[in-house]
Amino acid sequence: MTKEVILTGIRSNAELTLGNYLGAVLPMVQLQKEKHESYDLHFFIPDLHSFTTPVDHSTLYKQTIDHLRTFAAAGFDLNNKSTKIYRQSFIPAHSELFTILNNFAYMGELSRMTQFKDKNEQADTVSSGLFTYPVLMAADILLYGASWVPLGDDQKQHLELTRDLALRFNNKFGETFVVPHEWNKQLEFSHRDNGVRIRSLSNPTKKMSKSVDDPRGTILLSDTPEEATKKIMSATTDDLSEIDFDFEKRPGISNLLQIHSLLTNQTIDQVLELWRSKTSYGDLKTVVSKSVSDFLGTYHEKLAQISPEIVETKLAEDEAILNERTASLLFQAQKSVGLRK
Ligand code: ATP
Ligand code: MG
Repeated sequence: MTKEVILTGIRSNAELTLGNYLGAVLPMVQLQKEKHESYDLHFFIPDLHSFTTPVDHSTLYKQTIDHLRTFAAAGFDLNNKSTKIYRQSFIPAHSELFTILNNFAYMGELSRMTQFKDKNEQADTVSSGLFTYPVLMAADILLYGASWVPLGDDQKQHLELTRDLALRFNNKFGETFVVPHEWNKQLEFSHRDNGVRIRSLSNPTKKMSKSVDDPRGTILLSDTPEEATKKIMSATTDDLSEIDFDFEKRPGISNLLQIHSLLTNQTIDQVLELWRSKTSYGDLKTVVSKSVSDFLGTYHEKLAQISPEIVETKLAEDEAILNERTASLLFQAQKSVGLRK
């Protein structure tokens, strides 16, 4: 019996942050551990999505490889038999299917995508690449018949668009695509219903983000322990002078407690046993700085052991296999629309 496919990816548009690590890298490592025996796992870097917003093109290639090195350093097994790792742009079928699907997506539905609307408002000019990227994302998913697509909640609409496009195409041309499961099932499947959201240290009502220019609020995985310590010690807190976990009233302190709990493998309640009602924010910051510094030290050591060549060899192997495999689904879609006989 063929196994169901789990597919997930992360853009390589900027350096990864501690938020990405705790909210995406670690859950992905966990997902592989948990599911690799019963599912096929597709883990890819959507590198063509990387410059829907401006990037430094001179570092893009290296960044893609480095993202995969980060996953390996975090415990992701690159050589696991059920796992394929690949770069979107190395499998041209993504772009071919995207071109086909673009003709079945409506301007109206793409204009309603909140990510597009948000970024459109923030920037002076917006590329058509940003406008149509949800369709490329649909192609990424449908090309592999993925049923399960673990995603952050900012991607909910894009998953729904993927389902709509698959159903629209199947209704018109007969069963061609596997329709991925709906949002709530996805959350349950990947345990994201209680998802992690690390906040900016300088502005804790906002999330820590790899593409937002917020150097004081963002811990990069490439930061030295000293740099990270400086940022934590100057993190924005509140004037309530009492430690408790409450993102509404105490977002800064809650963010620090959350980071500490995740890095030390404790629940928030366990962390609070020691810290609840204490008044010294400085002491808490010192302890959190230590857990972040310890983490970064270990992470940097592990990362140094994973060469770009190890990653590139595995990528080349998997990309060759997938280039063959995707040809048949692409052919079906081409046939449906009358491009092949
Ligand atoms: P961008 O600004 O480029 O969108 P990002 O930091 O939001 O950068 P994404 O590429 O959108 O990163 O997301 C990659 C993964 O990291 C997603 O699974 C997302 O849910 C997760 N992630 C991003 N930021 C955080 C955060 N602050 N806390 C927890 N998880 C996060
Ligand atoms: Mg994002």
